Amino acid sequence: MRVCIHRGTHEIGGTCIEIESQSKRIVLDIGLPLESELSDTPLPPVSGFRGFDSSLLGVFISHPHLDHYGLAPKLLQEIPVLIGSAALRILEAASQFIPSEVNFKNTIEIKDKTPITIGPFTLTPYLVDHSAYDAYGLLVEADGQRLFYSGDFRGHGRKGKLLDRFVAQPPKDIDVLLMEGSTLGRFGVDDKYPSESELESKFLETFDSTKGMPLVWCSGQNIDRLVTIYRACRHSGRQFITDMYTACVLQSIGNKRLPQPGWTGFRVYLPWLQKQTIIRKELFALAKSFAPWRIYPEQIKKEATKLVMLFRPSMRTDLEKADCLEGATLIYSMWSGYLERDQYHPLVDWLVEKSIPLVHCHTSGHAPISDLKRLANALAPKMLVPIHSFEPAQFADHFENVVLKSDGQWWEPINNPSIVNLKNTEETMNDDIIRELNKKINSQTGGGGKWPSSFDYIIEPNRLTLQTNRTIDKSGYRCLDSWGIALYHHLKTKHKLDIQEIQFVLNNNGMTKSPNDEAFKRRVSYLQINNGHIRFKIIHDDHPVVLYNQKELFERPTGEIIHNFLNSRGDDDKGHLLEKSFQAFLFGKGMETKTRTNDRLAILGKDFFQLKKKQYGVLREFPTGAFNESVHECNRLTPTEFVDIVTLNRLGYLSVIELKLDDPKLEVMSQILDYALYFACYKDQILDVLNKKPGLNMKPLKDKIICYVVNNRFHPRFDDIFQYYSTKGKSYKFQILKVVLGSTTEYPVYDMIET
Ligand SMILES: [Zn+2]
Ligand SMILES: [Zn+2]
Repeated sequence: MRVCIHRGTHEIGGTCIEIESQSKRIVLDIGLPLESELSDTPLPPVSGFRGFDSSLLGVFISHPHLDHYGLAPKLLQEIPVLIGSAALRILEAASQFIPSEVNFKNTIEIKDKTPITIGPFTLTPYLVDHSAYDAYGLLVEADGQRLFYSGDFRGHGRKGKLLDRFVAQPPKDIDVLLMEGSTLGRFGVDDKYPSESELESKFLETFDSTKGMPLVWCSGQNIDRLVTIYRACRHSGRQFITDMYTACVLQSIGNKRLPQPGWTGFRVYLPWLQKQTIIRKELFALAKSFAPWRIYPEQIKKEATKLVMLFRPSMRTDLEKADCLEGATLIYSMWSGYLERDQYHPLVDWLVEKSIPLVHCHTSGHAPISDLKRLANALAPKMLVPIHSFEPAQFADHFENVVLKSDGQWWEPINNPSIVNLKNTEETMNDDIIRELNKKINSQTGGGGKWPSSFDYIIEPNRLTLQTNRTIDKSGYRCLDSWGIALYHHLKTKHKLDIQEIQFVLNNNGMTKSPNDEAFKRRVSYLQINNGHIRFKIIHDDHPVVLYNQKELFERPTGEIIHNFLNSRGDDDKGHLLEKSFQAFLFGKGMETKTRTNDRLAILGKDFFQLKKKQYGVLREFPTGAFNESVHECNRLTPTEFVDIVTLNRLGYLSVIELKLDDPKLEVMSQILDYALYFACYKDQILDVLNKKPGLNMKPLKDKIICYVVNNRFHPRFDDIFQYYSTKGKSYKFQILKVVLGSTTEYPVYDMIET
């Protein structure tokens, strides 16, 4: 048996695993990566996905979540799809209303603990507890080897007993366990999640304390949650209104024990948007079938205090028109990270405008570490490969026999994982190639976009080391992480090296506790947190430096303090320095200082359009730098540097702007990260300083800090490394955004003439 994880070794979302035996293949899951669109995400490179290939025997879909089936609409329709029958019905019901048209022509129904033989494979599905209905783990047997794929699972939902039963009688002799780790890095080792029944009490409490109508925003396919809400409704004496889409999904499952139209206190509402779908697709019979249980706007207004209503952001106008929002509460019942996405800012603004309080009431669809351990211990695999996790490197802290894999790498289950850890047996690079690479990289150093010459580069098959060969200053330190990442990316993509560790060796570079060192340690700690699939190490004068964990990095001790005084900065610019004059212009050079606002920042694009009426203040050259106890040189923790501009953006976020003009240094990435960490760690103190300055009008409306790195010309490797620093899809207190000045979409004539 050979295995290739096409996507999922270091991310949540887009899971796809190909397994080969005797030249036949099966695929487990065909997910869409998080925050990606179907239209611009290609299928993984599996033979038979696009053109017919008889050696591809089938695609198993573990459960109906987009990150596991989302690319399925692109599959060749002849390919057999193995899926639970209820899961299939949910997808079909949903596709009437939402544009994820799955249209499987050839399905094979899977059932709990019922083996299916397909070519050389025997597949045994195991029903699991998860926030998606009809979800399965899978035992794959072939060539005398046994692989277990956990799928997504938990033990605290309405089917929590399934996990108890599984660990009591697990499949034996597992060679490989592919186990999800969604919660690693998000929660502590001992954290427990509330169960669905605990959640029920919390819903009930909120229903009881809401004067008007509670609105609940949850996924229409999270069946456990819908049951929880329905039960809480019954206890509170309120009726439960679902939209027609959700009613359809519940009915499609065909399980008489689930709440659905026809049950006491179950009403169906048709929002405007769904009504348009009904008309467009001529689903009139479907709509009519819900007639006995329909509820209309006038009734909702009249009965509001006796109702609970499922909510989606698209229903805002419906609710306003129905005039039923007095005393309403919005209960948010999904992962909190979604709410922070830009697309939902208008919704949050709407809640504020309507004075609707927001209450969070949610529990995870995934197992906490303690339950992951129960599964891993029960299966006792010879080899445990992390999947569906942003923190694969953390697996080794909690589980035995962990072996990290890369996306796209083919490997075999083997009996002695410790060998794999040392070297990738199959892919042991030819020593000559490695020697050549070392020679090549070390000869391409110094100036002109080459690798910085203050470091020696040591490339091993699994590890990259950057070692200082002279004393480096602040900018040298910044080159260390940014160029280290650049070389890692280069070796990985251009030379296909499977590097798993990046090591920075600093010798004879002063104390380990110098400010530059501390700032560097914070950056590398961030990179480690942000890139669970790479191991980062700092060795300083032969001693390993212990990196910060997420809590230590972002929640700094209270004894650390910052500059509490802002120098007033004038309009001075230096004519010969392009960047400085540009900064002075944006800052409002020549404008009346007392009423100076930030509207010239419109030049930076959509986050700063139409600021005129907002009257946000703007600061130039804002000092960073942290100290212990008092602002004094001998207490210095991190270097002081001046951020070009601090202001609020259009949506009222505290905004930190680093400007460059004609200066494509790669290490600007490290610089903006330094600022981001500074603002995130000391936000409250910074706001204090800002509030003390009279007439500034800089009280942020949001919690998050947005850090902009602005340039007209970024380093050619900038985007390569940005992805490792990127905050996209993460829920940190800050986001880093790139603004390109002067970009052109149409090329002028002279570009075609000159060569
Ligand atoms: Zn998933
Ligand atoms: Zn899932």
